[in-house]
Amino acid sequence: MGERMVHEEEKLEGFETRILGIKDEIAREEFTAKLTRIRKEIRELRNGLDLLDKVQGAVSEGQKELADEVQEKNIKEGEQVQNNLDSPNQIDRRRRLGTCGLDNKSCSTGVFASGHSMSADMIRRYSRQLLVPAFGVSGQEKLSKSSVLVVGMGGLGSPVALYLAASGVGKLGLVDNDVVELSNLHRQIIHTEGFIGQTKVSSAVSACLGVNSSLKVKEYGNGLNAANAVQIISQYDVVVDATDNLPTRYIINDACVATGKPLVSGAALGLEGQLTVYNHKNGPCYRCLFPTPQPVSTRQRCSDNGVLGVVPGIIGAFQALEAIKLASGVGETLNSRMLLLDALSTRIHMVRLRGRNSECVSCGDAPQILASNLWEYDYERFTQSTLSEEEPKPQNLIAKEDRVSAEELQKYLESGKAYVLLDVRDPHEYAISSLSNSLNIPLSSLKEKLPVLRSALLDSSGKLVNGDHSVQTEQLVEDDRRGWFRMSGRRIN
Ligand SMILES: [Zn+2]
Repeated sequence: MGERMVHEEEKLEGFETRILGIKDEIAREEFTAKLTRIRKEIRELRNGLDLLDKVQGAVSEGQKELADEVQEKNIKEGEQVQNNLDSPNQIDRRRRLGTCGLDNKSCSTGVFASGHSMSADMIRRYSRQLLVPAFGVSGQEKLSKSSVLVVGMGGLGSPVALYLAASGVGKLGLVDNDVVELSNLHRQIIHTEGFIGQTKVSSAVSACLGVNSSLKVKEYGNGLNAANAVQIISQYDVVVDATDNLPTRYIINDACVATGKPLVSGAALGLEGQLTVYNHKNGPCYRCLFPTPQPVSTRQRCSDNGVLGVVPGIIGAFQALEAIKLASGVGETLNSRMLLLDALSTRIHMVRLRGRNSECVSCGDAPQILASNLWEYDYERFTQSTLSEEEPKPQNLIAKEDRVSAEELQKYLESGKAYVLLDVRDPHEYAISSLSNSLNIPLSSLKEKLPVLRSALLDSSGKLVNGDHSVQTEQLVEDDRRGWFRMSGRRIN
């Protein structure tokens, strides 16, 4: 009996094992069937996509033909006007472009079901920007229909123009009357060595089109002045002041106020920079803050005081940001606020600006400088400086007979007579280049360091190095900040 039970149990276990085996087999079969089905679906999907591509290709071909016809018609109608405005290169380029500004190869000129007018190429190019929720399709569309004028293709203007070109602004105007020099390249990053000696505007246009060939760009190689400012500025939605020339700053400001354009203003010097938006949302204009120009003696320029290349780069990038916000209507701009950058300590301060001045001769309640009479205003006289940035500042030099020429000095050094050659420039200037055997005592510390100079003037026996020539070192007279000085009494010679 017991043996039989055991036998039955063994049989049952055998059945269970077989049933489990069958279950596994069924599961495997079901899995294989599912896999086959999925593979079939994938194949069908691929075929469908191929077909879709073919259909889209045919549609694009049709759209291209239509676009070519429209473009040909537009070119014929607009050619006469464009010929008056543009260089032959630009006319040629324009011939290659479709009505949306894109190259014919990529232009689909279609309005997509989503309701915007961007082509597939535009969507691809600006996709990362379109994904920014606050900017999106509407921001990009407004930007692509806007125009921005950038005055100055230097350290500030370089990043401004490049970012505006890259981000898809509709039309870019570039102003500068200077040529590219080697000493520009450390900060004016839009220019390259190959453009040294060529105009900055032609270099900048080439760089901008290199970044974005669909850009509409206009160059103004004669610079901005009182005679042309209103006419040029009135053609743009936003103006960027990227100059470091005082009369030009006032001209740009007054022309922006007269034509009702917002002005993105930036400045950079040494390791400091500042940025604001003038003439926007009832905020002040440049003249409201600076009704009278800074005195000539306190003005500083990059060519005199130096600038670390990246500082205008940072301010310029900020200017591009403000211009993009103004053009696209996105975000909060810097009107009535000023950003101050201290690059040495990497600190940014925001300063609230006082409001519009009702007495301002430009934007006040009874303005005197208007679009109609701006050209008459003597900006050079008002600011006591010239429109040309290359013009040297007037120097207050000492009398000719108190100066020593390079030739005279060379002769003296070769004569073998004893001498003390004093260099009164600042140490960082002295470090760039100096004459051998010269003594560097900066002018600012000359009075307190007179004992050093006096001991240098004495030889080992305690007599003046130059024997019979007496020098009254205590009566050194500072002549001007560039370091010219004279010694009362007689020169060391
Ligand atoms: Zn004002």
